[in-house]
Amino acid sequence: MKSCPQCAKSLKLIDIGGKDRLACLEPACDFVHWDNPKPVTATLVTTDAGLVLVKRKFEPFVDDWCLPGGFIEASEHPAESAAREVLEETGLHVEVQKLVGASAPGRGINVVILFYLAKAIKGDLIAGDDASDVGAFQRDQLPKNICFELHRQMIDRYFSENGSF
Ligand SMILES: [Zn+2]
Repeated sequence: MKSCPQCAKSLKLIDIGGKDRLACLEPACDFVHWDNPKPVTATLVTTDAGLVLVKRKFEPFVDDWCLPGGFIEASEHPAESAAREVLEETGLHVEVQKLVGASAPGRGINVVILFYLAKAIKGDLIAGDDASDVGAFQRDQLPKNICFELHRQMIDRYFSENGSF
């Protein structure tokens, strides 16, 4: 971000509260680019056949596998968002059981991931529009190419704790 979204003047890096932040110095404008992270969900879905993963159809990491999830919509509860994303990407209706983790931003992508545990209650595994495939896996069947380190860590924990957390 180089210019002010409010008045289009150029932004300057200044110290606010001990941190360098891009801010607009126009007296009539008070814009500060706080650069707050966006929340996203990622959900560990249990089915009779195993843990559900989706194969990515779009960049980044096309053709790698990861947990279903995505951005939270305006006025949507995170748990509701988790269930919606799972349905859109996998065709499964789920019952969200609990929040099992939250990540700090700072791996080149400014998001906070909320990890949920859920179980499938109905529906058939069908890849949605932004997935090229979807599957349910036991630990020894997991694909080698699972992207996102934090997803891999949570998948590991899931199997280490027998999906109970
Ligand atoms: Zn401005």
